Amino acid sequence: MGITRRSFLKLTGAAFATSVMYEFTGQSQAMAADASQEWKLVDVTETSTICCYCSGGCGTICSARDGELINVEGDPDHPINRGGLCSKGSSQFGVNSIYDDVTGERMINPNRVQKPMVRRAGATDWEEISWEQAFDEIAKRIKETRDANYIGEADGVTVNRCEAIASFGAAALDNEEGYALQKLCRALGMTYIEHQARI
Ligand code: SF4
Repeated sequence: MGITRRSFLKLTGAAFATSVMYEFTGQSQAMAADASQEWKLVDVTETSTICCYCSGGCGTICSARDGELINVEGDPDHPINRGGLCSKGSSQFGVNSIYDDVTGERMINPNRVQKPMVRRAGATDWEEISWEQAFDEIAKRIKETRDANYIGEADGVTVNRCEAIASFGAAALDNEEGYALQKLCRALGMTYIEHQARI
């Protein structure tokens, strides 16, 4: 039997209508399974942010329920990553929380460093200090080191440099932070300015 254009359209139209009816009458297994599950992201507040790990700047969506972070995933609307995250970015949730190996209970990551830490010369343990103390101690050491090692002239040439302090930037620095850090380093006369990506 030959199939005309009209009979072909009739047949495909009937097949499509049957398929749609099947979905809407709840006969589809996929729809039945979905309907019985509680969605993980129901009643959450979504906040878009940027991945904390590197200056790639991938967009991330943080979902919180009752003020508690419950999920972190790539932002499909973000122009840089379009929803994708690398292995580091995919593990961002672990910065906040981990799951107990035995009970499976979620808990705030106990390894998360939330305060400045210092290991004094000769000490083996790290000591927790306040931000104010950390800023004061860093500023004091920079001033002392720069004053003691500043070189104004070398071989009859004005150089205005300090070779006793180095800066080691991390991938987490974005454009603006890198710019501000360069300004500070150059103003102090520093010449040893490095970045982990070059090592
Ligand atoms: S660590 Fe990965 S996910 Fe995060 S910004 Fe960099 S490339 Fe993107």
